[in-house]
Amino acid sequence: MPKFKLNTDILIIGGGASGICAAIGAKRENGNLNITIAERLPRIGKKILSTGNGRCNLGNVNIASEFYHGSVENVMQIISDTQDTVGFFESLGVLCTHDSEGRMYPYSNSANTVLNAMRMFLNQEEITELCDFDVCSIEKASGKFKVSNGEEYIVAEKIIIAAGGYAAPSMGTDGSMMKLLCGMGHKIITPTAAIAPLCVNPNDVKGLKGVRVKAAVSAFSGVSFLAKEIGEVQFNENNISGICIFNLAYLYPEYKNLVISLDLMPELTINELEKLLLKIKKIRLQFQSEEFVSGIFNRNLSSFLIKKCHIDKTCRISEISDDKIHTLAKNIKRLEFKITASSLWKNAQITHGGICGECVDLNLQSKFFKGMYLCGEILDVDGICGGYNLTWAWSSGLWAGKNAAKKSEDIYAENK
Ligand SMILES: Cc1cc2nc3c(=O)[nH]c(=O)nc-3n(C[C@H](O)[C@H](O)[C@H](O)COP(=O)(O)OP(=O)(O)OC[C@H]3O[C@@H](n4cnc5c(N)ncnc54)[C@H](O)[C@@H]3O)c2cc1C
Repeated sequence: MPKFKLNTDILIIGGGASGICAAIGAKRENGNLNITIAERLPRIGKKILSTGNGRCNLGNVNIASEFYHGSVENVMQIISDTQDTVGFFESLGVLCTHDSEGRMYPYSNSANTVLNAMRMFLNQEEITELCDFDVCSIEKASGKFKVSNGEEYIVAEKIIIAAGGYAAPSMGTDGSMMKLLCGMGHKIITPTAAIAPLCVNPNDVKGLKGVRVKAAVSAFSGVSFLAKEIGEVQFNENNISGICIFNLAYLYPEYKNLVISLDLMPELTINELEKLLLKIKKIRLQFQSEEFVSGIFNRNLSSFLIKKCHIDKTCRISEISDDKIHTLAKNIKRLEFKITASSLWKNAQITHGGICGECVDLNLQSKFFKGMYLCGEILDVDGICGGYNLTWAWSSGLWAGKNAAKKSEDIYAENK
C-alpha cells in the first residue's frame, strides 16, 4: 500500500514550462497557498534547456491564432490575458531580445537563464519541487485528490496536470498521463508527431543527403492543396527536414497521401525559367549535361535533377532537347516527394493532438473533475516553429495556475 507523503493545496504534475508557470501563476494569485510540483525526472525543466538549440526561443513578436492548431476554444484569450512574454520574463529579472524574424530569446542566448530565473522564484516562494516522483494514479475522494507514484501518495485540494505529450520521450514525456486522463473519461484527439522531419523513400532522395536548399514548399493531399511555407529544406538519408517541413509535419498522418512539392526557384515563372535554361544552354554548349544547372544549384542537387529528368549525364549540354529543358524546368518548379511516414516521437519537438478542448472549460478546468486543471502540451493545442509552443506553455500554465488558486466561488461568479 502506498504511504502518505504530503498534503498540499495545489499539486502540479509535471515540472516543465507549463507546470513551472502554473506554480508561478497560482502563487501570484494567492501567496498563502502551499504549492508542490511533482516531477518524474531527477530535475525540473529538462526540456526547457534543450529548446531553441539551447538558446530557448521563448516567444514570438507575431502571435496570432493562424499559427496554432487544435480544439481549445480560447487559446488567443489565454495568451493575451496572461502577461505578455517580455513582461513576464522581465518580472522574473530576465531580459529578452528578438531576431529579425521576430523570434524571441533571452538576452543571454542561454536557456539556462530562463530556467534559473523560474527556479529562483520557486525557491523564494517556497514552492516544493518533488522530483523523481512519477505519478501513476489519480483518485478523487471526499473532495480531495489522492495522487500516487505507487509507493507514496500526495493529498491535494486541487491539481494541475502539466505532464506534456509524447514528443521527445527522453525528456520525460511518453504520453502516459494522457492515457491516464483518457481512462478517467477525457477524450483524446489522436496524437501525432509535429515539428518533426517527414519520412520519404530513401530511393527518392538518393544522392541528396546533406543538401540544403531554399524553396517554396507546398503540401498536397493527392492533388488538393493543403498549405504552403517558404524556407530552407534539408535532405537526409530517409527524411526531409527544416523549419518549413517541421511546420507541415502535423498534416501527416491525417493526410496519408501527403505530397511535399518544392519550388526551387519561386521568384521565376516556368516560362522565365525555361528562357533562363535556354540561355545557359548557349553558354555551356560543349560541357557535359551534369554541369547544366551546376551554376544555379549545389552540385549534388544539380546531378539529382538531371538524373530525375532522364538526361544522360555523359551527353553534352548542346544535345539536350527543348522537351527535356521543359521537363527540367517543371521539376525545378515542382519537385515532388511522397511522404511515407511521420517521424518517430524521439525526433519530434511537439505533439499535435492531445486532450480535446471539449473536456475543459474556459478556465482550463476539467469538465469531469472539479478542481483538476490542464495546461501545456497535454492539451490539443500546438503551434508552428518559432516560439509559439513555449508561448502556449507559459500562458496556459499561468492561466491554469491563476484559476486554480482562486476560490471556487470566485470562478463560479466569473463563469456565470
Ligand atoms: C528539442 C526541442 C526543442 C524545442 N524548442 C522549442 C523552442 O525553441 N521554442 C518553442 O516554443 N518550443 C520548443 N519546443 C517545444 C516546447 O519545449 C514544448 O512546447 C513545451 O516544453 C511544452 O511544455 P509542457 O510543460 O506542456 O510540457 P513539457 O515541457 O514536456 O513538460 C512536461 C513535464 O512533465 C513531466 N512528466 C510527464 N509525465 C509525468 C508523470 N507521470 N509524473 C510526473 N511528471 C511527469 C515530464 O518529465 C516533463 O518534465 C521544443 C521541444 C523540443 C523537444
